[in-house]
Amino acid sequence: MPLMEPYRIKVVEPIPITTAEQREAALVEAGYNQFNLPADVVTIDLLSDSGTGALSAAQQAASALGDESYAGARSFFRFREVAEELTGYPHLMPVHQGRAAERILFTALLKPGQFSVSNTHFDTTRANVELLGCTALDLPGPAARNLDEPSPFKGDIDLEALHRVLTDGTPVGLVIMTITNNGGGGQPVSMANLEAVAQLCRTHEVPFFLDAARFAENAWLVTQREPGYQNHTPREVARQAFDLADGCVASLKKDGIVNMGGLLALRDPDLAGRCELLLIATEGFRTYGGLAGRDLDMLAQGLREVTDPAYLATRADQSRYLGDLAVAAGVSIVQPAGIHAIYLNAGRLLTHLPPSAFPGHALALELYRRGGIRCAELGSLYLGEFDEQSELTKPAPHELVRLAIPRRVYTQSHLEYVAEILAEIAKDPERVPGYRLTHNPPLLRHFNCRLAPRA
Ligand SMILES: *Cc1c(COP(=O)(O)O)cnc(C)c1O
Repeated sequence: MPLMEPYRIKVVEPIPITTAEQREAALVEAGYNQFNLPADVVTIDLLSDSGTGALSAAQQAASALGDESYAGARSFFRFREVAEELTGYPHLMPVHQGRAAERILFTALLKPGQFSVSNTHFDTTRANVELLGCTALDLPGPAARNLDEPSPFKGDIDLEALHRVLTDGTPVGLVIMTITNNGGGGQPVSMANLEAVAQLCRTHEVPFFLDAARFAENAWLVTQREPGYQNHTPREVARQAFDLADGCVASLKKDGIVNMGGLLALRDPDLAGRCELLLIATEGFRTYGGLAGRDLDMLAQGLREVTDPAYLATRADQSRYLGDLAVAAGVSIVQPAGIHAIYLNAGRLLTHLPPSAFPGHALALELYRRGGIRCAELGSLYLGEFDEQSELTKPAPHELVRLAIPRRVYTQSHLEYVAEILAEIAKDPERVPGYRLTHNPPLLRHFNCRLAPRA
């Protein structure tokens, strides 16, 4: 049977259609930073897949059952039942979003000077490690370095390098595997890699966690790509991954398919007790953790829906389709296409722009200028190093643009529209202007900076 979305649309939201003049004025007003654009001038929003998914009718119905009792709400027990069945972890704490789980876990576990080791830390995960006076060490595998090579599991950690840091006296406080590896091109992690990491952590008595924001998407790609898993359901694979670790942090704004929510789940009762004190002090009582009862009910339902193979198959197919269209238009992508996003190789397309003119940002803004499409740069503007005069001193290794695909939101024709705008840009890329920084804040630059086109 040909692939198609296993749902139909019941509620629609009009999308803004703008003129070229309106978009140019919006760019000036925003200081050429897409984070400053108001949503009502954005036609297709591919900035993030976080909290941007569409709720199902069943989730909306569940929301009406939300129990807003301060303590012991029925909603919590419904959430806990689903999360426990999914993960197998006995201690489950809801939090308002993923970064709250990171902060609580690391505060309870890490001592200043220790290392957190990962395939790649997500940016808030890294920030929460560093805020504690610790070091976040990324050890992506060798396959991740080659953007064009379609290796199946480019999210894997470098096991040799991990073995080295676990045996050379580095004070490793924890290992955290991000599935799928968002910072590393949205690439999946194999079960073989997770098993090897679990084994190493057990041998060296280091706690091992998952950053499980996209646990279902990772599990789906395992069933498609890893020998021996073809006959497993995504839910079975996800459970096997959770079984290997001592717990997880998760932004449920991704594979929870809700607008807000997160999870901290643990096996060790002592650690869970310490985390629970921090949870109550900073998020909320243990049966709501910063969420409303209705949020917990929508989450319980979302966590059931997200492992549906028909849903995951079409989601993966959407990203692959957009990736194929981009390549056909002459724009290279990080291969293979991820599942929550595709990553465009702007450095290769805009060869007339040096890293200091921010080719990734230039391509992202051009997609907005020509088509009202919003997306994010992952290149030298975000990851480069700068001196006091805001001159780029160390470019990022690659100049990429991430097109993140919200869950159940856009149709095939929306993606074809994006590809058409991209193809138009790729016809004469030299017309795309570069940019320079006019305001460069020392912290969280990409959110708050302002730029201007280079003359
Ligand atoms: C989104 C995300 C986070 C942070 O979660 P928030 O809900 O945005 O706080 C952490 N890790 C990964 C891999 C993510 O994608």
